[in-house]
Amino acid sequence: MMTSSDDLAYIDENLHIIKERIAEAKAKYRSPGEDVRIMAVTKTVAPEAVNHAVELGLDLLGENRVQEYLSKAELYDRSAEVQFIGHLQTNKVKYIINSVSMIQSVDSLRLGQEISRLAVKNGRTMDILCEVNIGGEESKSGIAPEGLRELIAQLSELEGLEIRGLMTIPPPGDSDFFLGRMKELYDSISAEYPRMDTLSMGMTHDYAEAVRYGSTLVRIGTGLFGARNYTR
Ligand SMILES: *Cc1c(COP(=O)(O)O)cnc(C)c1O
Repeated sequence: MMTSSDDLAYIDENLHIIKERIAEAKAKYRSPGEDVRIMAVTKTVAPEAVNHAVELGLDLLGENRVQEYLSKAELYDRSAEVQFIGHLQTNKVKYIINSVSMIQSVDSLRLGQEISRLAVKNGRTMDILCEVNIGGEESKSGIAPEGLRELIAQLSELEGLEIRGLMTIPPPGDSDFFLGRMKELYDSISAEYPRMDTLSMGMTHDYAEAVRYGSTLVRIGTGLFGARNYTR
């Protein structure tokens, strides 16, 4: 994996733009004091570039693939927090249980049970988000909105888990509609679960809109590191 200093300068510029657009959307649509966290999504990105983003002040990394994460984790600047955001097979939970602070992609009871089992075994509590398939797309993971309440009720019975909120990847197209629906769903469910404080939505193409619709955590890959082509 090679990274030239041009790539790194590009990250500074991109981060500047992202922060400006988030600040604009917050000023326009959000209450003062509401925080929006920026996650740097690292898939296919060289560790040097990831560490450069950490040096620039990004303190949260998002990992999609267990294998890729394991191959890069040792090279990462340890000061950043790491959360898992990709589709997770139950048999791989064991590889990440002690090295991430949150699993954002919980979409089944079975996965929740395995995280719970390993969290208890390791003497820790794992923060989780439920991933919602807000567009009802067959190709995507995530629980359908209709099944969400039941899943959360079941997960909330499990030891070693703290349900902190919801995550989504809305379908392409009508962003406003789906982001708005997610916000409604989050508001109604988080009213029943006071420990919820995280609505993870917004990627490179829709993060400013997501901030408008109440996102507390935007997950940005290409908008920060450039197109996923220069490292692999
Ligand atoms: C890749 C990915 C992102 C970031 O996508 P970009 O469009 O590159 O910003 C965010 N969330 C998840 C779950 C992803 O897999």
